[in-house]
Amino acid sequence: MTSNQRQRYQQIILSHARKPQHKGKTNPIHRQNQGENPYCGDKVDLTLMLDETETKIEDIKFEGAGCALCLASADLMAGAVKGKDISAALLMVEDFRNMVMGETEFKAPLEKLNIMQSVAQFPMRVKCVTLAWHTLKGALDGEKQS
Ligand code: ZN
Repeated sequence: MTSNQRQRYQQIILSHARKPQHKGKTNPIHRQNQGENPYCGDKVDLTLMLDETETKIEDIKFEGAGCALCLASADLMAGAVKGKDISAALLMVEDFRNMVMGETEFKAPLEKLNIMQSVAQFPMRVKCVTLAWHTLKGALDGEKQS
């Protein structure tokens, strides 16, 4: 990665952290889950609204506190899975984990998510960027138990 690229990624992360596009709570709330990363103090409170067949994520919002990486990742995640089928979103959770580890990359229009790969060399930071995705998985898996 060039230093120019690194700078551009940094700007994208900061702008999503400062001005998240998916902040708040969905109305109504069909699925909800909270995630915490005690190593950094990150917290994410995720709410989802599903379609009437409960197979598609109609809307997704988050509230949270934490570092810029965590909040930017939550905002990018919400944007990526909004309007997607639950099954597709769960696959994206897997893809995201593999992408952070450098094993795969997202293709357009999701290539923005690849910027989170730049943290793979810092294990503590990996927890920051994967928190929202783990929380999403928990929210969607919860469906099976009820
Ligand atoms: Zn963090």
